[in-house]
Amino acid sequence: MIPPPTPKLLLLRAAGKASEISWRLTDCTIYVTLEPCPMCAGAITMSRVSRLVFGAWNDEYGASGSRWDLVRDQRLNHQVEVIPWNYGTVNVRLW
Ligand SMILES: [Zn+2]
Repeated sequence: MIPPPTPKLLLLRAAGKASEISWRLTDCTIYVTLEPCPMCAGAITMSRVSRLVFGAWNDEYGASGSRWDLVRDQRLNHQVEVIPWNYGTVNVRLW
C-alpha cells in the first residue's frame, strides 16, 4: 500500500510543476505549521528547498531539528536552512 501524500508533499509537487525552470526549488521557502516528519523532511531536502519555516516543534515525529534533523544532515547533498518560529510543541499521532 502506498501512503497518501501529505499536504507538504502535495505542495512540493505543485511547486515543482509550476516552476518552468526546474523541479529544484532552490531559492524557495516553505512555510508550514508543524515541524516536518521524516517523509516530508526528506521530500523537502530532495526538492532542494532553501529554507524551512515552521510554527511548532513536533517532538514525536519531527525530523527538522527535534527528534531527527534530516534537513541539515551533512551526509546528504543538500541542506535546508531551518527557521523555527517556536510557538510551542505539539505531540501528533499520525496513525
Ligand atoms: Zn510529514
